[in-house]
Amino acid sequence: MVNAATRSSSANNEPVIVLGIESTAHTFAVGIVSSEPPYILADSRRQYVPKEGGILPREVASFFSQVAGEVVREALHQAGISAGDLSAIAVALGPGMGPALRVGATVARALAHYFHKPLVSVNHAVAHVEIARFLTGLLDPVVLYVSGGNTTVLSFRAGRYRVFGETLDISLGNMLDTFARETGLGPPYVVGGEHVIDRCSRGGEFISGFPYVVKGQDVSYSGLLTAALRAYRKGLEPLKNVCYTLREIGFSSVVEVTERCLAHVGKRQVVLTGGVAANDELNRKLEIMAQVHGARFKRIPKKYAGDNGVMIALTGLLSYMSSYNIIEPHRAFIRQRWRVDRVNIPWYPKTLGRSL
Ligand code: AMP
Ligand code: MG
Repeated sequence: MVNAATRSSSANNEPVIVLGIESTAHTFAVGIVSSEPPYILADSRRQYVPKEGGILPREVASFFSQVAGEVVREALHQAGISAGDLSAIAVALGPGMGPALRVGATVARALAHYFHKPLVSVNHAVAHVEIARFLTGLLDPVVLYVSGGNTTVLSFRAGRYRVFGETLDISLGNMLDTFARETGLGPPYVVGGEHVIDRCSRGGEFISGFPYVVKGQDVSYSGLLTAALRAYRKGLEPLKNVCYTLREIGFSSVVEVTERCLAHVGKRQVVLTGGVAANDELNRKLEIMAQVHGARFKRIPKKYAGDNGVMIALTGLLSYMSSYNIIEPHRAFIRQRWRVDRVNIPWYPKTLGRSL
């Protein structure tokens, strides 16, 4: 651990400025966040899009290595600062794909070393929660985190974001993308901000007989995916009906689990975060559920639903100001299966510019 005395920038009333690096999955991104308004100074990203099939970790890593330099440069240019002006460097060290994570960790280590900056280790899932709290101002929410790799219901309790429910197999985003890929609807999976499954669902009707699986507080999607693919391959139902049903069951089951968590913890706020938070229909369903319970729901802008560097910079800044998870660069090891509930959140319920 670096001594807290090295967190010097705020002592002379200068804003604390943190550069955050994201490289856990398909996006290499750099964000820069300041402790003073306008808070978000830069948001630069490049997404790896496979020409066909799924994501190959080695190809992603090679793409990240090619774009890393220009993304860092672009972010500094947007912020109108040089690396020397930074208070700290933050990096998402997990969870995620090893080869992809290693590129972000290497870039972060190099920057921290070369510019003599403290390095802050950030958990990617915590960052999705923090960006949602910051953007909505809902500071003590039940969080539904749905992305390409995760489907988790979280809420803060006793120092950490605790997992109240999660998928037992594949994530919601993975289910939508896999169905789209197997039926030729994608890639790309998202066109004009809309998932191809949404587009295909228009005018569709509900088919009975697909599995709706909620076990306790957990959901399961692999049986639903198999049933939908079987129905499509047999050609007994129009594709729009299969898409509509897949989406209805996928969304409803995860909203059910979020609802149970809300009732259990007795909180009054709900937020949705992660790539699938860009989905209009899921937002609508969650908002209706929150209203039924007299809870507040606020949507996050689509732009910050998916992976981005701003959320890493924001979380890095909160962590840095709490002297938490500041590490020596040579100890910046990636953690592919770093669980969200292993991370302390000493700044809670504060966020940038707001406290309860
Ligand atoms: P992330 O890993 O957080 O960047 O999220 C990526 C996932 O979000 C992928 O599975 C995408 O298909 C999914 N996604 C992005 N936009 C949408 C949308 N509008 N509706 C549903 N899923 C989406
Ligand atoms: Mg993500």
